[in-house]
Order: sequence, then C-alpha cells, then structure tokens
Amino acid sequence: MEILENTFSKISSVVKSQLYPFIKLRDLSLLSYTFENFFGHVIKENNIKVLGHHFSNRQIEGLTLIDSRDRISLSYEKENPVVRQNFTKCHELGHYLLSHKGSVFTELKANQTSPEEVEANYFSACLLMPDIVLLSKIYYQKSSFQEVANSLQVSYEALNIRLIDLLTYLTGESKESVIQTVHRYQSRDNRKILESFAKVHDSIVSEYNSYDPRPVEKLSYLLSQKDFVTDKEVSELSQTKFRRTVSSASVGTWAYYDKGIAIFYAWNKEKLTEGQAYQKAKDIYYLS
Ligand SMILES: [Zn+2]
Repeated sequence: MEILENTFSKISSVVKSQLYPFIKLRDLSLLSYTFENFFGHVIKENNIKVLGHHFSNRQIEGLTLIDSRDRISLSYEKENPVVRQNFTKCHELGHYLLSHKGSVFTELKANQTSPEEVEANYFSACLLMPDIVLLSKIYYQKSSFQEVANSLQVSYEALNIRLIDLLTYLTGESKESVIQTVHRYQSRDNRKILESFAKVHDSIVSEYNSYDPRPVEKLSYLLSQKDFVTDKEVSELSQTKFRRTVSSASVGTWAYYDKGIAIFYAWNKEKLTEGQAYQKAKDIYYLS
C-alpha cells in the first residue's frame, strides 16, 4: 500500500511539473482541457510517430518502439473505443516521458502488473484527468460524473479509478468510504464528493500555483510565437548570467542603452537579423 502511494505521488508530480507550466504558458482553459494539446506538443517536439494498428484478435492494445537510432513510434489498437485509444496513447507516452528502460513496450489485453506498467497507467490517468481540472469541473462547475468523463474523453471506469486514487491519497479517508463517495457521484448525488473536494481544494490549488514555467521555458515559448522578447516579459533577461544561458546559434541576446535606460532583449536569429532586433528595441525605447 505504501509503495503504491509513493508511486502515485511520484508519477503525479512528474505529470504536474510538466503539464501545469505548459497550461499556464499557453493560457489554456481548465474547463475545456483535454490531454490533446500537451500530447501533441510532446509528439511534435520529439518527432514521435503515432500510428493506429489493428490485429485481428485485438490482443495488443498498444506498442511503443524505440529503434537503434532513438526514433520513437507509438501505436494503439484503432478498433478500440476512442476512450480506450486515448488511455493507451497517454500510457505509451508515459513510458517515454518516465524514461522507462527498454526499446519495446507492449500492452496486452490481460492486466499487467509490473511496476513500469503501473506507473504508465498512473501517468496516463493523471494526464487525461489532472487534479486541477477535476477540481474545476467537479467543484466549481458542478459537472456530473458523466459530463466530466465525456468532456475529458475517458471511460467511466477510468474516471472512477482516478477519483478513488486521488481522493484516497489526498483526503486520507479509507478507500471504502471514498469508493462510496465516488459511487454516489456516479449515481448523480454529488453532495459527498463536493465535501471531499472542499477538504482538498487548498492543497490542489496551492500545488497548481507552485508550478510556474521556468524563465527559460517562458522565453523559448514566447520566441516561438513572436521572434522578439524584452525584459518586460521575461525580467531575467536583464541578468548577464541568464542571457548567457539562453544565447545560442538560434537565439541572440543584447541590450539597447540610451540616457541611462536599458532594454534587454532576445530574438530568434532564424527570423530576425541582429540589426532588425536592435531596431525593434530602439523603437520600443522611443515609443515607451
Ligand atoms: Zn505499458
């Protein structure tokens, strides 16, 4: 039991530390969250191929393959219901982001209980149904169990397990009583689950607030959006050490000085020349 709780909190932290800054940087709405934004981003950044497969007996739910040149592909059984496909996709992504050792991961229909499979399942559940999103939908929006499952594109079974795991872990109540609470919620009586979320509300919110994007991530995201960023948006640009860290073949940093005022800036070298970036900083100086 204790080992499982440790696994749960470890995996849940891995997901939150990547997902929460991702949501904040892009200003994504918590109420219309689905796993797809984050999933699509990781796939693209890492050149991962995502494929549907079909085996006549549907014994293989999912597969991750990493070849000798570190090219990764993951696949899912395309005849499965969409909610099952989603769970498999996030499970496979879990093997990758949790750096599980190996080059082939195969999900068989029969339950798998190795530690890595348990971890990948937790990972998938946390990515499909993040704490802060469940809080927003269940506690603030007062959505029904069925609405939550449908909007997050997960099965009732997956939502059921996720709520039991999360509330048992956070409230410290016995699993039996949490199972009752979730069961009532599924039968359209949300009184008990609202009480439970009221208890854990503060810890979910303060955790969400604690995972801010790192300045480096913020800069890199902003540069991908608009090629030129000043220390008004990323204040760390005024620090020499930070500028040194982020300067590279594709990112330039410099400062425009005039009459005791400095504008520190960074630019995307693939889109702007040094002179164009300098001119932009100068324009900002004269316009401000
Ligand atoms: Zn697996």
